[in-house]
Amino acid sequence: MASAALFVGIFLDIDHIIDFFLFSGERFSISGFTSWCYEGRWERLILIFHSYELYALFGLLVYYNPHPVLLSIFWSVGLHLLLDQIGNRYLIKAFIISPWFYFFTFRAWGGFYKDWMTTPRKLRGR
Ligand SMILES: [Zn+2]
Repeated sequence: MASAALFVGIFLDIDHIIDFFLFSGERFSISGFTSWCYEGRWERLILIFHSYELYALFGLLVYYNPHPVLLSIFWSVGLHLLLDQIGNRYLIKAFIISPWFYFFTFRAWGGFYKDWMTTPRKLRGR
Protein backbone atom coordinates (compact mmCIF):
# COMPACT_ATOMS: atom_id res chain seq x y z
CA MET A 1 0.00 0.00 0.00
CA ALA A 2 2.79 2.43 0.93
CA SER A 3 4.68 1.66 -2.29
CA ALA A 4 1.59 2.24 -4.39
CA ALA A 5 0.84 5.49 -2.58
CA LEU A 6 4.39 6.74 -2.97
CA PHE A 7 4.67 5.72 -6.62
CA VAL A 8 1.36 7.27 -7.67
CA GLY A 9 1.91 10.35 -5.51
CA ILE A 10 5.02 11.08 -7.54
CA PHE A 11 3.88 9.58 -10.85
CA LEU A 12 0.90 11.96 -10.90
CA ASP A 13 3.25 14.74 -12.03
CA ILE A 14 4.09 12.88 -15.25
CA ASP A 15 1.41 14.99 -16.92
CA HIS A 16 3.75 17.99 -16.64
CA ILE A 17 6.18 16.17 -18.91
CA ILE A 18 3.40 15.27 -21.35
CA ASP A 19 2.40 18.94 -21.53
CA PHE A 20 6.01 19.99 -21.98
CA PHE A 21 6.27 17.80 -25.07
CA LEU A 22 2.88 18.93 -26.36
CA PHE A 23 3.28 22.67 -25.91
CA SER A 24 6.83 23.83 -25.24
CA GLY A 25 8.29 23.21 -28.69
CA GLU A 26 11.61 22.70 -26.93
CA ARG A 27 13.95 19.79 -26.82
CA PHE A 28 13.68 18.07 -23.43
CA SER A 29 16.24 18.80 -20.75
CA ILE A 30 15.78 18.79 -16.99
CA SER A 31 16.71 22.49 -16.69
CA GLY A 32 14.53 23.47 -19.65
CA PHE A 33 11.64 21.46 -18.28
CA THR A 34 11.86 22.83 -14.73
CA SER A 35 12.20 26.42 -15.92
CA TRP A 36 9.28 25.95 -18.31
CA CYS A 37 7.15 24.75 -15.39
CA TYR A 38 8.35 26.79 -12.45
CA GLU A 39 9.20 30.07 -14.13
CA GLY A 40 5.80 30.10 -15.78
CA ARG A 41 7.09 30.07 -19.35
CA TRP A 42 4.22 27.79 -20.35
CA GLU A 43 1.30 29.25 -22.30
CA ARG A 44 -0.94 26.17 -22.22
CA LEU A 45 -1.33 23.28 -19.77
CA ILE A 46 -3.73 20.36 -19.83
CA LEU A 47 -2.44 18.48 -16.74
CA ILE A 48 -4.86 15.62 -17.23
CA PHE A 49 -4.04 13.88 -13.93
CA HIS A 50 -4.37 17.08 -11.87
CA SER A 51 -8.14 17.09 -12.12
CA TYR A 52 -10.70 16.88 -9.36
CA GLU A 53 -13.15 15.44 -11.87
CA LEU A 54 -10.83 12.53 -12.67
CA TYR A 55 -10.20 12.13 -8.95
CA ALA A 56 -13.96 11.94 -8.30
CA LEU A 57 -14.34 9.27 -10.99
CA PHE A 58 -11.48 7.35 -9.42
CA GLY A 59 -13.22 7.79 -6.05
CA LEU A 60 -16.31 6.07 -7.48
CA LEU A 61 -14.14 3.19 -8.68
CA VAL A 62 -12.58 2.88 -5.23
CA TYR A 63 -15.97 3.11 -3.52
CA TYR A 64 -17.23 0.10 -5.45
CA ASN A 65 -13.86 -1.72 -5.30
CA PRO A 66 -12.37 -0.82 -1.91
CA HIS A 67 -9.14 -2.74 -2.36
CA PRO A 68 -6.39 -1.54 0.02
CA VAL A 69 -4.05 -0.64 -2.86
CA LEU A 70 -6.75 1.43 -4.58
CA LEU A 71 -7.57 3.10 -1.26
CA SER A 72 -3.93 4.03 -0.69
CA ILE A 73 -3.70 5.44 -4.23
CA PHE A 74 -6.93 7.36 -3.64
CA TRP A 75 -5.60 9.01 -0.47
CA SER A 76 -2.19 9.64 -2.03
CA VAL A 77 -3.67 11.39 -5.05
CA GLY A 78 -6.01 13.38 -2.83
CA LEU A 79 -3.12 14.56 -0.70
CA HIS A 80 -1.10 15.43 -3.81
CA LEU A 81 -3.95 17.50 -5.26
CA LEU A 82 -4.59 19.23 -1.94
CA LEU A 83 -0.93 20.13 -1.44
CA ASP A 84 -0.68 21.32 -5.06
CA GLN A 85 -3.82 23.41 -4.57
CA ILE A 86 -2.35 25.05 -1.47
CA GLY A 87 1.31 25.21 -2.43
CA ASN A 88 1.35 25.98 -6.13
CA ARG A 89 -1.04 28.90 -6.10
CA TYR A 90 1.66 31.47 -5.42
CA LEU A 91 4.63 29.45 -6.63
CA ILE A 92 5.38 31.62 -9.65
CA LYS A 93 6.08 35.27 -8.93
CA ALA A 94 4.61 36.63 -12.17
CA PHE A 95 1.06 35.39 -11.60
CA ILE A 96 -1.39 33.73 -9.23
CA ILE A 97 -3.06 30.49 -10.24
CA SER A 98 -6.85 30.52 -10.10
CA PRO A 99 -8.42 28.66 -7.16
CA TRP A 100 -10.36 26.72 -9.85
CA PHE A 101 -7.14 25.62 -11.57
CA TYR A 102 -7.37 21.98 -10.48
CA PHE A 103 -10.77 21.50 -12.08
CA PHE A 104 -10.29 20.05 -15.56
CA THR A 105 -13.51 21.61 -16.82
CA PHE A 106 -12.29 25.06 -15.74
CA ARG A 107 -9.04 24.63 -17.66
CA ALA A 108 -10.85 23.21 -20.68
CA TRP A 109 -13.37 26.08 -20.62
CA GLY A 110 -10.50 28.50 -21.12
CA GLY A 111 -8.82 26.39 -23.78
CA PHE A 112 -6.07 25.45 -21.30
CA TYR A 113 -4.51 28.90 -21.76
CA LYS A 114 -2.43 30.57 -19.07
CA ASP A 115 -4.33 33.85 -19.39
CA TRP A 116 -7.55 32.05 -18.44
CA MET A 117 -6.05 30.15 -15.50
CA THR A 118 -3.93 32.88 -13.93
CA THR A 119 -4.04 36.48 -12.80
CA PRO A 120 -0.95 38.66 -13.22
CA ARG A 121 0.22 39.83 -9.81
CA LYS A 122 0.40 43.50 -10.78
CA LEU A 123 -3.40 43.48 -11.36
CA ARG A 124 -3.82 42.56 -7.71
CA GLY A 125 -1.48 45.27 -6.53
CA ARG A 126 1.36 42.95 -5.59
ZN1 LIG B 1 1.28 17.83 -8.88
